[in-house]
Amino acid sequence: MTSFKAIRIDSADAPDGARYVEMSEDALMPGDVDLDVLYSAINYKDGLAVTGKGRVVRRFPMIPGVDLVGRVTRAAHPDVAPGDVVVATGCGIGEAHYGGFAQKARLPGDWLVKLPERLTPARAMTVGTAGLTAMFCVFALERHGLTPAAGTAVVSGASGGVGSFAVALLASAGWRVAAITGHAAEGDYLRSIGAAESLARDDFSQPGKALQTQRFAAGVDTVGGVTLANILSQTAFDGAVAATGNVGGMDLPASVAPFILRGVSLLGVESVRPRIALRRAAWARIATDLDAAMMDAMCEIIPFDQALERARSIVTGKIRGRVVIEMP
Ligand code: NDP
Repeated sequence: MTSFKAIRIDSADAPDGARYVEMSEDALMPGDVDLDVLYSAINYKDGLAVTGKGRVVRRFPMIPGVDLVGRVTRAAHPDVAPGDVVVATGCGIGEAHYGGFAQKARLPGDWLVKLPERLTPARAMTVGTAGLTAMFCVFALERHGLTPAAGTAVVSGASGGVGSFAVALLASAGWRVAAITGHAAEGDYLRSIGAAESLARDDFSQPGKALQTQRFAAGVDTVGGVTLANILSQTAFDGAVAATGNVGGMDLPASVAPFILRGVSLLGVESVRPRIALRRAAWARIATDLDAAMMDAMCEIIPFDQALERARSIVTGKIRGRVVIEMP
């Protein structure tokens, strides 16, 4: 049985308990598809996992890495064949099932999406869970029947991972995008990815009136808390807001007024469950809608031997853009 390099977390009790190890393929968890991992990426969740913060890891030992792209080496699943390049994100990978911080992975075929031709493996990892979640948010708004003709779409946490991809995907779909950011210096970056205007985070962070001036037809919110309440209060008749994050708080101190007096809808979006048809549609749309040069500008590629240190540093906010790990 061949051995492979991995980052492994052995126990919940040990902060910084993650380390580089050699593992044998027969130690992989059950799955009908084997992969050589080509690239993974560092998400905030992976930072929490390797530093023992949060309760991300649900069984030990665990290989972290919630996103991976790999080449199939063995397949006992009708949808994939050896040689296919496939992408996997969420589905409990890196939390309950061994993830992408390893040279090998064994996964259920139902979690895998064949990489669309227009997307390289490294760009798929630049997109990763953040981009897929943003795509799911855009789908939610479209399912609600909203089109760019309705007006402006607002995005909060705009310079973050999910926010940046939401700005880019909405702009690519023809929306006029207003980007809420706490970093005034990110204005040029946000315009370069498609925002028409930047709005100050502080203007949304204090409790406001239940009904405010109707500014937005649609929204993608990654912040939650008072920010989401204010966005709902500024959403126009029959508009909708896709809520997917909580960087500003888990609570929602809002009024029902926007819902019952303006017909505003709040659409919940999560990206972890497999729902393979939705994933396939999302990756296909990402491949056609996202600009390759923009993806490359957002990404830093690092070798696997730097992955652990960089994953630890994401929890202290020391990572900007997407850090993609190239496997040896
Ligand atoms: P990032 O850390 O990359 O971005 C978050 C952004 O939010 C920051 O860049 C900043 O943008 C803004 N921000 C940070 N702190 C605050 C604050 N206190 N108040 C208001 N804004 C703030 O995170 P991600 O984009 O990866 O994730 C965003 C959220 O989405 C997280 O809560 C994450 O858990 C969630 N998420 C949910 C998923 C799901 O399945 N539901 C999947 C993926 C992510 P700026 O400086 O521009 O204001």
